[in-house]
Amino acid sequence: MIWADREAKKLKERNLPLEWADDMKTPSGRIHVGSLRGVIVHDLIYKALKEIGVNTKFSYVFNDMDPMDGMPTYLNKDKWQKYMGVPLYKIPSPELGFKSYAQYFAQEFIKVFNSLNCYPQIIWSSELHRTGKMNEVIKLILDKADIVRNIYKKVVKKERSSNWFPYNPICEKCGKISTTNVYRWDGKYVYYRCEPRMVEWATGCGHQGKIEPINENGKLVWKLDWPAHWKVIGITIESSGKDHMSAGGSYDMGVHFCREILGTEPPDALGGYEWFTIGGKKMSSSKGIGSSAKEVSQILPPDVFRFLLVRTPIKTHLDFDPNGDTIPNLFDDYDRCMNAYFLKKENKLSKDKAGEVTSDYARIIELSEVNPLPKKRLYLPRFRTVANLLKTKNNNLKAFFETQKKDQLTVEEKEILKERIIFAKIYLEKYSQEKIDSVKTEKFAPSELQSKFIVQLINQLDTLKNKKDKEQIQQAIFDNIRKTDINPKEAFTAIYQSLTRKAFGPKIGDLIVNLGFEKALSLLRTNNPDKITSETKKQYIYPDFKDKKIFSIDNVVAQKYPSINIGIAVIKNINIKKTDSGLTDEINKFVSEQSHLSNEIISSYPEVIAYRKLYKEMGVDWHSRRPSPEALLRRISQKKDLYQINTCVDAYNLIVMKNRVSVGAFNYDKFQFPTLMRFPNVGEEILLLGDKEPTKFEPLELAYFDQLGGYNIDFNYRDAQRTAVTENTKDILLNIDGVFDITREKVEQSLKESIEIITKYCGGTIGLAGIVSATQK
Ligand SMILES: [Zn+2]
Repeated sequence: MIWADREAKKLKERNLPLEWADDMKTPSGRIHVGSLRGVIVHDLIYKALKEIGVNTKFSYVFNDMDPMDGMPTYLNKDKWQKYMGVPLYKIPSPELGFKSYAQYFAQEFIKVFNSLNCYPQIIWSSELHRTGKMNEVIKLILDKADIVRNIYKKVVKKERSSNWFPYNPICEKCGKISTTNVYRWDGKYVYYRCEPRMVEWATGCGHQGKIEPINENGKLVWKLDWPAHWKVIGITIESSGKDHMSAGGSYDMGVHFCREILGTEPPDALGGYEWFTIGGKKMSSSKGIGSSAKEVSQILPPDVFRFLLVRTPIKTHLDFDPNGDTIPNLFDDYDRCMNAYFLKKENKLSKDKAGEVTSDYARIIELSEVNPLPKKRLYLPRFRTVANLLKTKNNNLKAFFETQKKDQLTVEEKEILKERIIFAKIYLEKYSQEKIDSVKTEKFAPSELQSKFIVQLINQLDTLKNKKDKEQIQQAIFDNIRKTDINPKEAFTAIYQSLTRKAFGPKIGDLIVNLGFEKALSLLRTNNPDKITSETKKQYIYPDFKDKKIFSIDNVVAQKYPSINIGIAVIKNINIKKTDSGLTDEINKFVSEQSHLSNEIISSYPEVIAYRKLYKEMGVDWHSRRPSPEALLRRISQKKDLYQINTCVDAYNLIVMKNRVSVGAFNYDKFQFPTLMRFPNVGEEILLLGDKEPTKFEPLELAYFDQLGGYNIDFNYRDAQRTAVTENTKDILLNIDGVFDITREKVEQSLKESIEIITKYCGGTIGLAGIVSATQK
């Protein structure tokens, strides 16, 4: 079941006579595509509720009483500067034919969401004010201004003086709303001053006056304006982006105002929704660079665009980067879901577990409907093929797909083909890999792992030369992917880049046979020339560490995880303190630079993905045990304080957070050497730091051991008490944990930085330092 149906089912249980879903936006400029997320979220909940027989309405409020508070880059500053601080509905439209500035930008946005089959009732906030509908609630709030101030104090610890009132009249002299400050309310009039320097971006005229806070004379400040709208309209469901959903944020405050002043229940916010960004960027409407809703809506057919939004669960960050393969992949996903929809129509959806996903796919298509969905199965000409054929200047696409279909295309199918040709041309013109390659002529620079993979592949292909068996070639590729521990996507990119200079292509077996073996091999060699010799010549910072009396990797482990690289160092005579102000400053600086950090971003780091992959293979659920870099970064993203242990541990933890590579330090003098990385024996236990009871190792849980037992668990999850570094520790053993995409280079970099920061804050001398690789002889 998809999220909208689940939420609707839950809402139905509260049995309200009317559910009213609403979303809002201040039309301060071209509206960013990210705002479509809210529209779709509410449209889905509205449609899901209606389907299960709940009386439901759906509206969209444009907050056009809000002031212009930023200068869009596409407007002439000299001409528009004078409107800064003026309510948007009173500013003229940049183009003829619209009532106001607000209407001009709002209408553009309405057109886009209408094209996605969203038709909420449009409500203009200025209209609600003008017709007096807000009067009562504004008076109520002004009468209870002391409670408002108390809520500010209680919830966000903000002191408001007794002459502060949450209302901004429009200055009768200069027409600005953002510069007026109300200092008195006598039950009929508010008394205000138009302050020259209340905000940086607009200048008040100094006028003093009194005015009735009714109709379009002014509006409440945002934090009260929002709940006032909920009450006046009768909104029962209003979700919003997570910026409003934090503790002490607009929604949280709104809840207090509803319950303590307005006597209403706040709307269900569905827990808030995650961002919709384009190429990782979230931009405000007033900046208006690039990704407006209108611009993005022009690169995809409406049903595919709606599908993109519908299929993403409410709590999942949707990032759409139209460059490269994204658009053909999206069409493929769409076609796959269409197939599920057709199966449903044909009553062929199986009821087993796999079928559940298929029925979700079908449901996503139903909810993505823009134009009436087909009644029966259609043949869908694949978008990727359309684009490829257009590239080869093939003009008879209809004939091509009719051959593929082994039948004539129906009228509907021809329409789909026509539409896909239009959007494939846009794709080829703007976003295809060739387009990107032609823009940036950078050469393909394979990573260490990619070249390692290619070198192995070349050797194996050499032995297949005379057989020319496509299946064997494919098999060789997969064998080498496994052997190298490379991510399959990276591996294929490396091959395609070497053979065709593109990031994708046909099946590699076909490609190699068609190119001819000699040609393919020489392309693979010449496109990776320096890398190929680099295997032997490569200059590393640290030598191979070969002293097995100190540390080694067990053979079973090395065979199972050939990508493991462990950085080892011994630092002696260090002086550990509780804290160091310089170190604290460094840590605070790092934390303050991470304000954008979210769990989604953390989950996208290749290092985090690598550790999670290992955890999965060890049979450990990484939701319950987080690899150490992830655990630390999550504390930052959740605004929790970092633990302060001591100057040694805190120092290397900073490197862990910066590089996302895990580092462990242990009390050297507590070890009974040699130490090694191995799988646990049956019944082995470890007493972890902070625990009273020992934890049993599971057989696949890779860890570090000395002759007395394990000294950490799950590669880098937690450490043992026995060897913990304290303020009394003099000598330490450092481990840096590399696996999969955490290459030797990354391990070396973290080893270097860890040694530097520890010796910076704790002194000491380096005894040994080097790298132990699983593949070392
Ligand atoms: Zn004024």
